[in-house]
Amino acid sequence: MEIVVIVGTGCAGLTAALYAARANLRPLVLTGKQPGGLLTTTSTVENFPGFPDGIEGCELMMRLQKQAEKFGARVQFGTLEAAGLKQRPLTLTIDGEEVQTETLIIATGASHRHLEVPGEHLLENKGVTYCATCDGALPIFRNKDLVVVGGGDSACEEALYLTRFGSTIHLVHRRDSLRASKVMSDRVKANPKIRPVWDSVVTEVLDVKQDKVTGVRLKNVKTQEENVLECSGVFVAVGHIPNTTLFKEALDLDPAGYIIPKKGAATNIPGVFVAGDCSDRVYRQAVTAAGMGCAAAIEAERYLESLNE
Ligand code: NAP
Repeated sequence: MEIVVIVGTGCAGLTAALYAARANLRPLVLTGKQPGGLLTTTSTVENFPGFPDGIEGCELMMRLQKQAEKFGARVQFGTLEAAGLKQRPLTLTIDGEEVQTETLIIATGASHRHLEVPGEHLLENKGVTYCATCDGALPIFRNKDLVVVGGGDSACEEALYLTRFGSTIHLVHRRDSLRASKVMSDRVKANPKIRPVWDSVVTEVLDVKQDKVTGVRLKNVKTQEENVLECSGVFVAVGHIPNTTLFKEALDLDPAGYIIPKKGAATNIPGVFVAGDCSDRVYRQAVTAAGMGCAAAIEAERYLESLNE
């Protein structure tokens, strides 16, 4: 029987692991399919407090894991496949094995949202990608025209990163102004290699017949005019979808799929707590996820104490 199982090793999960470990709870921490979470797919993190020169996303996550393990967290490569939360003890299926636990901290984060247009999935890894840091340096993108889709911080970050490799980066956004933070928007606007394409959506990624990206079909949402923009790569950065499908039967989710916390980090099921991007549709920052992870671990510790009273 486990005392605390934490699902997810992003900022939320690993901070929860650190706090639970320091409370002598020896948490079992599952990496899921993306150890280290989405931050491992970013380049320099400039807004995590304590790193005035920034820190690479991977480096930050490795340090967080090391810090949690130092105090007794047991980080295990494993994926949660099912969660029986309606009975006690809570029963989890992890890679086919049943594990029982007194408390569960869900820190499953979020995944990249897709455009869901023709050609996108068929050309994935053939020019369509969701991570500039992972794929931007590939030869197929070097000195080529590239398209980034989106208007938030992620899209700006991707576009700026790609200026190292591509010739022109076309930033396609469905509105006429960016949603991104001012510092990121200003950097994008000041970069001569980035060309904004306003009020436009991608309606198709070309060319499935050639089995590689040769361009995108664009539609101007104001004039309805369509045209083809030639490019060798499409980097999709249109936000995220919370990873909560496994919990939708048992936990209260909002219409977009985010878990609704009750009081602090608690959920509608006693002993089940939540932290990070799977329950935060407002801030979605590394540091807020870490803070939520800390809160979830403290709540779990208090819950366990209350069972012994
Ligand atoms: P986001 O802020 O939700 O932005 C998503 C963008 O994609 C929006 O501009 C949205 O358009 C557009 N979009 C959504 N669905 C679309 C569709 N189907 N077709 C075309 N465009 C679509 O997501 P994000 O940029 O990934 O950022 C998520 C959070 O992480 C934010 O809180 C952000 O501040 C944070 N973040 C911070 C940093 C940093 O500080 N350096 C870096 C990355 C992310 P609309 O504007 O019209 O809604």
